[in-house]
Amino acid sequence: MIIVMNAGAAQMDIDRVIGKVTERGLKVHLSEGRFVTIIGVVGDKKLLQDVPLEALAGVEKVVAITSGYKLASRQFKPENTVIDVGGVLIGGDRLVVMAGPCAVESREQLLESARIVKKAGADFLRGGAYKPRTSPYSFQGLEEQGLKFLAEAREETGLKVVTEVVDPQSVPVVCEYADVLQIGARNMQNFHLLKTVGRAGKPVLLKRGIAATIDEWLNAAEYIMNEGNYQVIMCERGIRTFETATRNTLDLSAVAVLKKNCHLPVIVDPSHGTGHWKLVRPMARAAVAAGADGLMIEVHPKPDEAMSDGMQSLTPENFTGLMEEVNKIAQAMGRNQA
Ligand code: PEP
Ligand code: MN
Repeated sequence: MIIVMNAGAAQMDIDRVIGKVTERGLKVHLSEGRFVTIIGVVGDKKLLQDVPLEALAGVEKVVAITSGYKLASRQFKPENTVIDVGGVLIGGDRLVVMAGPCAVESREQLLESARIVKKAGADFLRGGAYKPRTSPYSFQGLEEQGLKFLAEAREETGLKVVTEVVDPQSVPVVCEYADVLQIGARNMQNFHLLKTVGRAGKPVLLKRGIAATIDEWLNAAEYIMNEGNYQVIMCERGIRTFETATRNTLDLSAVAVLKKNCHLPVIVDPSHGTGHWKLVRPMARAAVAAGADGLMIEVHPKPDEAMSDGMQSLTPENFTGLMEEVNKIAQAMGRNQA
C-alpha cells in the first residue's frame, strides 16, 4: 500500500505515520515530491489492520497497490525519476546516448571506439568486459583487464562507463570501474544478483529479459529498489517471438507502457533488438519518437572484425548518421539533443 500525505504535510506528521508503520515491523520507502510526500509500505498489510492510518494527522489517503511492484510505480512516485551520473542526467529533457562495442576486445579497439562515439556526441561508452555468451566456446571477455581499459577510455574522453556485471561475486570489482552497472537480459531474473546491485549504491541499467513480460521486468526493478537503490534505468532490448526476420522483436510499445505505469527512465537498444545493422537506425529513430529517454547502440571501428555482435554493430560513419537523425527527432519531440 501507499500512504499519500496532504500537500505540505508537516514533517512531524510524516514521522508519526512512519513510526506507526515501522513499529509493526513493516518497511517504508519515501517518495518526496515537490509538493506531496508518499510513503510506500512494504510487508504484511494485515499487521496494520487495527491502525487507523487514514485518521492520522496529515494523511490524505491510503491506496492499496495490487501490482507486485510498488516502488517502481507511478502511483508511488508521480514525477519522472532523473538519474544524475556525474552530471549526465538520464530521464531529463536531454536524450542520452550510450554507445560502443559489444565486447571490450583490446586496449586499441576500445580507445578507438571511445574516440569515435565521443566525437559523434555520445555521453556513455558501453562495452562488455564479462560476456554472457550463448555458447561456452564463444569469446567470454577480458574481465578485469577489460574494466581497466574502460576506465582508461573514460579518463581520456570524459565519457561515462556502462558495463555488464554477470554475478554477485564480481559486483565489487565492476563497481570500482563502472559508472552504471548493466544487468543483462539473461540475468534479469537472477534475484540474488538484483539484490546485490540493489545494495551497491551505483545506478543500474536493467535490460529486459528475452522472454519477460513488462510486469516481470518491473518486478525485477522492484528487487533492486527494495534494497534501497532507486537509481534504475529500464532498457528495452527486444524479446523472443515467432518472428525470424530479426534477432529479437523490439517492443516499442513497452516504452509507452513503462512511461504510463512507471517513473523510471527508459532506454532502447535497437542493436540487440533487431540484430542487423541496417535496421538499427530506423528503430533508433522510432524509439526516440516513442518517448525513450536514451539509446544504447553497438558501434565498432571495424564491425566485420568484431569478436561479438559484428552483424548488428554500426561503423563510425553509420553511427554519426544515426546521431544526426535521432537529434532531429529529439528536437521534434521537444527534447534537447544528445
Ligand atoms: C550486451 O549489451 O552486449 C548484451 C549482452 O545485451 P543483452 O543482455 O541485452 O543480450
Ligand atoms: Mn552485444
